[in-house]
Amino acid sequence: MEYVKSKVRDVNDFPQKGIVFKDLTTVFKDPRALHIIGWDLSQLYRDKGVTKVVGIESRGFIGGSILAFELGAGFVPARKPGKLPADTVSCSYDKEYGKDTIEIHRDAITEDDIVVIHDDVLATGGTMGAVYNLVKSMNPKKIYVNFIIELSALNGRANIPEGVEVTSLLQY
Ligand code: AMP
Repeated sequence: MEYVKSKVRDVNDFPQKGIVFKDLTTVFKDPRALHIIGWDLSQLYRDKGVTKVVGIESRGFIGGSILAFELGAGFVPARKPGKLPADTVSCSYDKEYGKDTIEIHRDAITEDDIVVIHDDVLATGGTMGAVYNLVKSMNPKKIYVNFIIELSALNGRANIPEGVEVTSLLQY
């Protein structure tokens, strides 16, 4: 993991002043780091019977797809409004400035599914909290939550219901 950490690029003042953006493109472009990420993510869920991985637009699509492939599970995108073509369910949530909405296809998850929801970075947890609520409303057997990076100081776990198993590969 130290190797992967060494490949994360900090970008100051992106997308706005005062934010230190954890850029994972420098991890994904490095074959060894990408391999470690894929292996370590999948090891967390190997024996859990996962049937679907939900990836959050857009950076969560990358790790989420790799995780789904490694687990032999299906992949489900959670997208910004208006991007998904068929019937959707949606959830609005508060962001630092104003509100945002996230959607998934209504038929994407069933009551038989065991789901991992994946995003690249846990910051305030607002986005993951909203996607969790969406997936929960579809009544799957079990929901796990996973990130590559967790920004611990922002206490994003507070936005994810207690008792949910949350994992992250790198903590800052
Ligand atoms: P959150 O505040 O947890 O709802 O984060 C919103 C989204 O923005 C997540 O999907 C993260 O991928 C992304 N994000 C927030 N803060 C950062 C950061 N410092 N570095 C990289 N991505 C971030």
